Amino acid sequence: MKKVCILGSTGSIGTQAIDVIASSGNLEVTALAARSNISLLSTQIRQFRPKLAAVYDENLARKLRDDVADMPTRILAGIDGVREVAAESGADITVTAMVGSMGILPTLDAIAAGSDIALANKETMVCAGDIVRDAAKRNNVRIVPVDSEHSAIFQCIGEKKEAVKRIFLTASGGPFVGKTKKELENVTVADALRHPNWSMGAKITVDSASMMNKGLEVLEAVQLFDVRPEDIQVVVHRQSIVHSMVEFKDNSVLAQLGWPDMRLPIAYALSYPEVPCPAVKPLDFSEMMTLTFENPDLETFGCLRLGFEAAKAGGTMPTAYSSAGEAAVELFLNEKCTFLELEYFVEETLRAHKLVINPTLSCIIDTDTWARDYVRALWEGKQK
Ligand code: MG
Repeated sequence: MKKVCILGSTGSIGTQAIDVIASSGNLEVTALAARSNISLLSTQIRQFRPKLAAVYDENLARKLRDDVADMPTRILAGIDGVREVAAESGADITVTAMVGSMGILPTLDAIAAGSDIALANKETMVCAGDIVRDAAKRNNVRIVPVDSEHSAIFQCIGEKKEAVKRIFLTASGGPFVGKTKKELENVTVADALRHPNWSMGAKITVDSASMMNKGLEVLEAVQLFDVRPEDIQVVVHRQSIVHSMVEFKDNSVLAQLGWPDMRLPIAYALSYPEVPCPAVKPLDFSEMMTLTFENPDLETFGCLRLGFEAAKAGGTMPTAYSSAGEAAVELFLNEKCTFLELEYFVEETLRAHKLVINPTLSCIIDTDTWARDYVRALWEGKQK
């Protein structure tokens, strides 16, 4: 049995990872961490009887301790508790499915403990990719992407890393593909949360609507596959059947296809290097299927353009981009700013950021805090 720790077990990726594990027969859960959904976490504890579980919200951790007092599971609290779960899980592989840059430290703790990483928390790689990769190399652990595009790229590259020429990163385009800026002036939170193909958490769904998610994925690909931003081309592919493609030096292109279902890349990452059991239904080419590819509209979806800018600048700029985006999405989800202001907040933050090349971890964490504060100050300035 392969031991699995899930950080973020009650979110969209976490619950789908639980599905995959429950039906696998050769995976077991040894530790869980969640932000605040203790009723679901307590169900998961009863299902798997892990040795450790943590709740980020300290008050709720106390309540959970009472709820599962009859279980053998030790319940920890706060970010320190989450970090202890990551460090002490004894897992062979840790699914990092927390939202945002708060995943950085627990991911590094899991790596230091020698656990392979099924990387779902892309912000960790975007902000601290160099540090995470160094730590993985030092501790001899694998990082296997869970993001569907990066899983596809990982699978296409296989053993041919030296022959890679270009990456085609596919994007569904989200609910607003084909729209102009003018048409997006009055869109609501509910509109942005209505993704045509993928079922995901709120933050990433808004990021998909603004194409900020694709900007983050460019940065994630730069880190995971050691390519330059100019070697990545974003291709809008509305059907989300081709999960990404890799062009090699002989100009041949490999693609990975499947239904848009996160259980596919989750099962791949958890089983790697073994072949996973089927987690989704097969594609059927005897039914009508049309696959289309278009260029992205960088004018309407400025957050994607800014992602390429942050990738070219490097250093702390990707952190400024990611963390400003996180703060802006939080404002949008609370109906405190418009959809189009997301781009404004991110762009202004990048313009104001004082770039540090080769940042330390503490410098990255400072940049994260600075970018969030900067967005907050921009927002307050607009209220006057
Ligand atoms: Mg993705």
